[in-house]
Amino acid sequence: MSRSVLKRAVGVVRGAASSMPRRTPSLPESANPPARLSLISRHLAPEYPINTPYTIERLPDTIDTSRLPKTQTRKLSYSATMSSQPPHPTLLIPGPIEFDDAVLQSMSHFSESHVGPTFVATFGETLTMLRKLFQTTDSSAQPFVISGSGTLGWDIVAANLVEAGEHVLVLGTGYFSDGFADCLRVYGADVTELKAPVGSRPQLPEIEKALSEKKYKMITVTHVDTSTGVLSELEKLSELVHRVSPDTLFIVDGVCSVACEEIAFDAWKLDGVVTASQKAIGCPAGLSISMFSGRAIKALENRKTPVAAYFASMNKWLPIMKNYENKKPSYFATPSPQLIHSLHTALTQILAQPLSERFAAHKAASDKIKKAVADLGLKQLASNPDDQAHGMTAIYLPETVKQAEILPQLAKRGVVFAGGIHKEVATRYIRFGHMGVSILDPRRGDVDRAVKALEEGLSECGYQKA
Ligand SMILES: *Cc1c(COP(=O)(O)O)cnc(C)c1O
Repeated sequence: MSRSVLKRAVGVVRGAASSMPRRTPSLPESANPPARLSLISRHLAPEYPINTPYTIERLPDTIDTSRLPKTQTRKLSYSATMSSQPPHPTLLIPGPIEFDDAVLQSMSHFSESHVGPTFVATFGETLTMLRKLFQTTDSSAQPFVISGSGTLGWDIVAANLVEAGEHVLVLGTGYFSDGFADCLRVYGADVTELKAPVGSRPQLPEIEKALSEKKYKMITVTHVDTSTGVLSELEKLSELVHRVSPDTLFIVDGVCSVACEEIAFDAWKLDGVVTASQKAIGCPAGLSISMFSGRAIKALENRKTPVAAYFASMNKWLPIMKNYENKKPSYFATPSPQLIHSLHTALTQILAQPLSERFAAHKAASDKIKKAVADLGLKQLASNPDDQAHGMTAIYLPETVKQAEILPQLAKRGVVFAGGIHKEVATRYIRFGHMGVSILDPRRGDVDRAVKALEEGLSECGYQKA
């Protein structure tokens, strides 16, 4: 492509971008011009396939298309609305989710020392922002960001906060609570699983009974079990635990809930929440993110036996996290500066708006999706509306439609859903993830497109609503 064409195109894109509503902070234009140019030029490269059906729809009305050559209109539409990402099927699985451009671009940061002052400042700010995301102002609470996926959070909890032979009550909601229980057993915990039928969660009276039968060091709950779309209610559960068994640590797997479901760490007296970067936080995968209470840190200090983990040892990471937040360089194992930059951008965007609005937006989108699913005559795994997650929906397929038929139909329409993973019903349902930019940036039209694709895809598979 000639330079002048590229320049003209960039001009159009910039003009369009500046007249569009900017809801979220993005990379300053000056931050990385060569990267921006190469990203934009990739879209304009004539050989780049533009093959999704929604190209034109996405063109913002601020561009006067009549003044552009036809071929360029098609190509520019992506540059203007998704300026750094090549056209791709919309990823609507329960994580990883679609990424905001600025979050993604933050990863193309030049290399810097992981103990240099600029990176240490970025990491420190990231930790401080996490306190806001978890709604904690208690200085004894401690955020951790460690390279790894969400699963590392289970290892951190299991290796540090329980000792071999101690009792843990795991509230069983599906695949992910089973995984947490397995992990706890690996480190020697004596685990009792209180399992609910598929699509529901253990109820408070049975939890109360279990808690009064034995002295538990810890209770764990999967806030949103991503295998079923079941949401657990944390506030009342925490009240119960603190009333019936006040010494028991209350630990939450928030991998699929942090940043799309309300979590009030202090107000709900939580002792630990573990999560990951790639779900509602909307940052590439690779970071285990957690928050622990002063009480949890005390439990670590009061251990009688040494922690049987090295990389997952909170004792190793605790001083590092404190130092980073105090802008002091220190080292235990090399963090990923690029991922931390990306998380910093994601958190800056999340906190640019009141959290309550973010949660409300996810709830509104979820209500709309669940209504559309019901209108199609379909059922969810989580049958009780109070137990339904707001960042994903697990949908039973009609008896006549197979997962292996519907998923390709959705893909043909530019939408990616996930299959089922709960072992009892895995082949009978699909999962629709609706978190982050797909919800918060209505210009994308992701939800409407996905609902339409589901409707058309089912009909293509021969399904007619009864
Ligand atoms: C995704 C998920 C995990 C595991 O996270 P990974 O990043 O895949 O290791 C754990 N718990 C829940 C609830 C999840 O949704």
